[in-house]
Amino acid sequence: MRISEFLNSSEKPFPSIEIVPPLKGVTRQGLVESVRPFMEFSPKYINVTCHRDEIDFRQEADGSFSRHLVRRRISETAVCAAIQAEFKIEVVPHIICGGATADQINTQVQDFLFLGIENVLALRGDSVLGEKRFTPVKGGFSYASELVAEVRKISKDAGKTMCIGVGAYPEKHFEAANLQTDIRNLKRKVDAGADYVVTQMFFDNAVFYHFRDLCREAGINVPIVPGLKPISNARQVETLPKSFYIDIPYALTSELEAHRDNDAVCYEIGQNWCIEQCRDLIRNGVPAVHFYTMGRPDNMLKILRDCF
Ligand code: FAD
Repeated sequence: MRISEFLNSSEKPFPSIEIVPPLKGVTRQGLVESVRPFMEFSPKYINVTCHRDEIDFRQEADGSFSRHLVRRRISETAVCAAIQAEFKIEVVPHIICGGATADQINTQVQDFLFLGIENVLALRGDSVLGEKRFTPVKGGFSYASELVAEVRKISKDAGKTMCIGVGAYPEKHFEAANLQTDIRNLKRKVDAGADYVVTQMFFDNAVFYHFRDLCREAGINVPIVPGLKPISNARQVETLPKSFYIDIPYALTSELEAHRDNDAVCYEIGQNWCIEQCRDLIRNGVPAVHFYTMGRPDNMLKILRDCF
């Protein structure tokens, strides 16, 4: 079933779960058991992130260096196939412009269609280490809007137009000059065929409501799903803003810093903050709440039990 149908037809908000593919070496059974705890909540689908190959330089016997592409994780396609087969639920693989030519995107989409996957989340991806700004490969795509149009075309030509989700940033994408410009670019993705939007994590719901209002004013009328992540330790007060360009409210950072040396208390503070955010979002009419689980069901279960 298409994610847009779930979002438009569900009578009550539901959790949307995102996992990260396991590192190579983890078995299929290992993956399945890490996802199984989420089945308590009958998720309608599971999102699987996509990770670009990393570049590794190895010294050869003659002293020269050779360049190698290294993928540290199992591919999103393999992970999706395993989840589908085990749990008989929909999967939403992420697909990125980064590192891929149009031909490679075509192959990837054909693999998804072969597996009966009818949903994807289309993203640009980030620059790789050592790259100042995102640079597409020759014959690749510069922006997610181009990828949306391409996935739509490939799947339509194959006889099954896929349902396409895209990313958005309530605090604006870090490269955009301002929120309004970023929302204009989000509209390009919707105009190119995106069926729904999933946001970056945020820790202040007022920021999300403001963003949602601006989107509606800009004529973005597809469902907007807010993204949440529970903070699980005090160190994330520094790491999350650096990695994801997001703000963490002072009320939360000061509480975490006051218990900096007590991981168990910080874990609970992060969990409770997320529960409060989620309940408030549900009261304010969101169709679903997307959770960045980072492959850790442990600190998600209480949140899901308390909210859904
Ligand atoms: P775009 O929509 O292409 O936007 C990128 C920037 O370009 C923005 O600043 C935008 O305002 C600007 N822009 C867009 N179009 C134009 C235009 N025509 N002209 C000028 N400027 C323009 N990354 C991964 O590598 N793998 C994942 O699995 C993954 N999952 C994610 C899931 C979600 C829900 C979200 C929100 C992000 C995810 N990301 C993932 C991160 C994402 O790839 C990065 O944030 C990336 O930097 C931007 O991706 P995008 O699709 O939003 O890009």
